[in-house]
This record gives sequence, C-alpha cells and structure tokens, in this order.
Amino acid sequence: MRLAFASNDGIFVSQHFGHAQRFAIVDIDETAYTWRFVEKRENISPCVMGEHDPEKLERSVALLSDCRVLFAAKVGNYAKSRLQLEGIQVLEKPGVIEDLIAGYLNYLKRPVWGGIKGEKRRDAIEDHPCFSEKAHNKNGRLHLPVSPACNIQCRFCTRKQNVTEQRPGVAAGILDPSEAADTVKRALELCPSITVVGIAGPGDTLATPHAVEAFRQVHAAYPGLIKCLSTNGLELPGKAKELWDVGVRTVTVTVNAVDPEILTKIVSWIKDGRDLIGAQLQGIRECAAMGIVVKVNTVLIPGVNDHHVADIALVVKSAGASRHNILPLIPQHEFAGWPAPTCQEIELARREAGEYLEQFRHCKHCRADACGIPGVSDLSNELYRGRELETFSHG
Ligand code: SF4
Repeated sequence: MRLAFASNDGIFVSQHFGHAQRFAIVDIDETAYTWRFVEKRENISPCVMGEHDPEKLERSVALLSDCRVLFAAKVGNYAKSRLQLEGIQVLEKPGVIEDLIAGYLNYLKRPVWGGIKGEKRRDAIEDHPCFSEKAHNKNGRLHLPVSPACNIQCRFCTRKQNVTEQRPGVAAGILDPSEAADTVKRALELCPSITVVGIAGPGDTLATPHAVEAFRQVHAAYPGLIKCLSTNGLELPGKAKELWDVGVRTVTVTVNAVDPEILTKIVSWIKDGRDLIGAQLQGIRECAAMGIVVKVNTVLIPGVNDHHVADIALVVKSAGASRHNILPLIPQHEFAGWPAPTCQEIELARREAGEYLEQFRHCKHCRADACGIPGVSDLSNELYRGRELETFSHG
C-alpha cells in the first residue's frame, strides 16, 4: 500500500494540502508491517491567495493517484472530496512522518475481533449524516439498491419499483453488485460531499449475499468512505467479522419489539418472535464487540408498540446499540388504513426512549437508491437515468 505525506522537508507533515510543495511517498507492506521510502514528488501547490486553482488542484490529485492514503495537516472540503473520488483516504494528521507511519502500522495490526474502541468509534460516525446530527445537512450518502428479497415480511412493508415514492423499500430497480464501485464513482462526481455508502434494501440486506459482495468491491476501490448496512437482523449473528472485513463500520438494525407477542403483530413470516429478537440482540452484541457502531430503528405503530419503545431502547442499549431512530409508521400493506402516529406521539416516544438511548431526530425515510445530501439534494434519478436496472418482485 502506498502512502503520501504532505511535507516540504520530508521529515514533518506540517503542510496544508493546498500549500504542499512536495510529497514524501512511502510503501508499506501490509503483511510484514514494514515500510520503505520510495521518492519525493514535487508539487505545484494549488492554493493561490486562499483559493484553489482548479487546474493545479487536478494536477496535485493526479500526482497522488497511485496512493491509497494521504497525510496532511489540513485538507479543504472540496480537495478532500476530489481525493476520495480517486480512492485516496485523507488523514488530517500533522507530525513526524516516521511516527505517523508507526501509528498507521499499529492501526493495521489492530485486533480485528474486539476492534476499535472509544474515541475512534466516534470518529467513524462523525461524518455520517444518518448517525450524526452535525453531519446531517452537510454530508451526502449513497444507497446501493442491491438487495431484492426479504426474509421476515413486516406487515407494514411494501417493496416497490418506481422513481416517485420517497420512502424505504422503494428503488428504481436492482443494481448488480458488480456495478457497485462504478455507481459510487458516478455518485461522487454528482455529489462530492458523499461520505457514506449504505445498503438499505429494497429488501433485507442479509437475506441475499449481494450486499456483502457489493461492499467488498466498493471498499477495495474507496477505502476512505464509510460503509453502512441496514438490516432486520435475522441473519446478523456470525456476520460481524465479515462485515468488518468489507469495511462496514456502522450498522442499523430495525427492532420493532423486544416482546415476542408484540412482534407477532408486526411481522408475518416469523412463527416464534423469540427467534428474531434473539438474533437481533446477538447480532448487535457481536457488531458492538467488533467496534461497529450500531443504531436501532423502530417503526412507531400506534396501539401496537407505542407503549413499548422505552423497553426496546433499554434492551438494545444493553446489547451494545448506541443510537436510536424512531420512525413513524407509513400505513400500507396490512397496516393500510391504520393511523400514523401524530407529531406529539412521536415526540413522547422519543422522550421515553431517550431516557436510555441517544435519539436521532433527522431521519428522512430515504429510498433504497437515495443519492445526495439528506433533505438537501436528491440525485438518484440523475444517477440511474438511462441505466438498465433489474426488476424485483415482492419476495
Ligand atoms: S425487514 Fe425491511 S424489507 Fe423486510 S419486510 Fe421488513 S421493512 Fe420490508
């Protein structure tokens, strides 16, 4: 793996990317954990009087196109997006180059099981618009609709293929995992502020192997982007290490009840609710132990689970979830005609559950093929226009 260091003297990283006159290039051996200095590359710094010169910026990016990671004291938002678009991870870390290499090698050596902890877990989600309120109106996300099928059938869920409805479970079609990395490339061209590649349907992401395969390909091409998986959790146990290895650092598990009797009213294909609840809690435990940040989504259904949200928050928190997102029911399928919760009911549920788990309040109920900044830009039609996507059925 090749690393670049923005450094004018070859000893310290003290340069803003826009001011760097040279880069020190280093190769590291990811198996032997050794490194060697390759060369010094002269650069025409792209920052002129505080503004990026676009041509010079492109030349600087091209100069680093064979590198996977750039260390610089600071990198502007646009330059960061351009570098990420080329598959270059950006680390804003000043310091002595040898110390930075030693730190990076230690990072590569970290235990995979029991993985990253504490502050680093927070770093992974600070840029995630669906985990961090600060990032919500700022950073973009792309959903890859690679997962056609489901394995539990929630009674409120209708998966549909169209370009008009703005809700989960809907996509313009199904993307083949082999098209995932190319789709990310084109999405970054449309929206350079994308920091997250998520897979959230239109069916369950672990009911078929497509999502893991898509993440494998995207992670190889774009290691610096956060990979995020949403699942009902039935197939989550035993998957944490595989997910970690394909770059997944955030997982959302939809938990609508932790009482089997209530769950039976919500899900139709699970005979004994304990099977699903047990799998969800086991999966959350394993992901949290691996260092993956877990958010739980709960669909609030008046008269069914609205009195139960605090129990859900308490139980999933003790399994290792760190955030909670309560979504209002969209009345459809077997719940067509059922009342959606009022704003007051949603607020009350969030207050009750918030006693136990931090509540995320900015969810926009995105489509399974969403692209852009949530609530700000919607580029999915543009992304998929003119492309032939596979159709999918309600199965
Ligand atoms: S798990 Fe997701 S895709 Fe499956 S039925 Fe429920 S909401 Fe729909």
